[in-house]
Amino acid sequence: MQIFKGKHEIRDFISKCKALGKRVGFVPTMGYLHQGHLSLMQTATKDCEVVVASIFVNPTQFGPKEDFSEYPRDFVKDCRLLEAQGVDALFYPEVQEMYGDDFSTWVEVSGLGDSLCGKSRPGHFRGVATVVTKLFNIIQPDSAYFGQKDAQQSLVIKRMAQDLDLPVKVVIVPTVREKDGLAMSSRNVYLTPEQRAVAPVLYSSLQKAEQMVAEGEREIKKLESMVIDELAKHKDAEIDYVEIRSLPNLEKSDRLESFSLMALAVRFGQTRLIDNIILEV
Ligand code: AMP
Repeated sequence: MQIFKGKHEIRDFISKCKALGKRVGFVPTMGYLHQGHLSLMQTATKDCEVVVASIFVNPTQFGPKEDFSEYPRDFVKDCRLLEAQGVDALFYPEVQEMYGDDFSTWVEVSGLGDSLCGKSRPGHFRGVATVVTKLFNIIQPDSAYFGQKDAQQSLVIKRMAQDLDLPVKVVIVPTVREKDGLAMSSRNVYLTPEQRAVAPVLYSSLQKAEQMVAEGEREIKKLESMVIDELAKHKDAEIDYVEIRSLPNLEKSDRLESFSLMALAVRFGQTRLIDNIILEV
């Protein structure tokens, strides 16, 4: 695997691949890789002849009181995993390479980026949309791969690519979970053993909602309340939000119609975890 820290160097590499007629697949990450990330790489490998990953802990998507400096990092292990996965190239820029000294242009997806995580993390999706636009411009991939685990992020990026006519196919890959149902996340490493033991309640409560829908429940308030009650049984779990919103526009309504996203965010101490499920009627 070739590692590039400079945008011009990786661009040269990509240009050579494209000149040979190869399709380029791109998987942006913040590193500390796990099987969830690797399933994006596997999907990219099936679709494309060249797979490029990036590791960049993007400061502009973290709020001032968030965990940017504590975000877990293990570059050596990440490289080993990427090599084993057959990834061709890694883009690993410094913050200075991405933002320079007087960065002043932002990409904002209004509406979609304002609710759910956007409400609890003001500016988060502006940082995400901006860095992904830059990465798309640097890598110029044919396809890019994102996880359903970050459902709102995936919707924001799809909309952004569509609205800005970015010539990239955005592919969403299913959430990879631990055996007990907890969605894999780089942040799971911060959970204490006690919190880790409780954390599977995020997914099991979403599954209960799915079951209620299968049994005929359509009232959104009832479904949300049931999940809130399930989570509230655990004093360690502080609910940030539990909401059902329409897909793909994340609008609120009273009753379930066709496809909806049930999403939640929960804090265990300093660690904020998210999960979601798609409800279909
Ligand atoms: P991150 O490094 O957390 O920014 O994630 C990089 C990409 O991996 C994003 O598209 C995430 O949605 C995706 N991802 C993270 N965790 C999972 C998971 N458990 N299953 C599937 N995709 C994931």
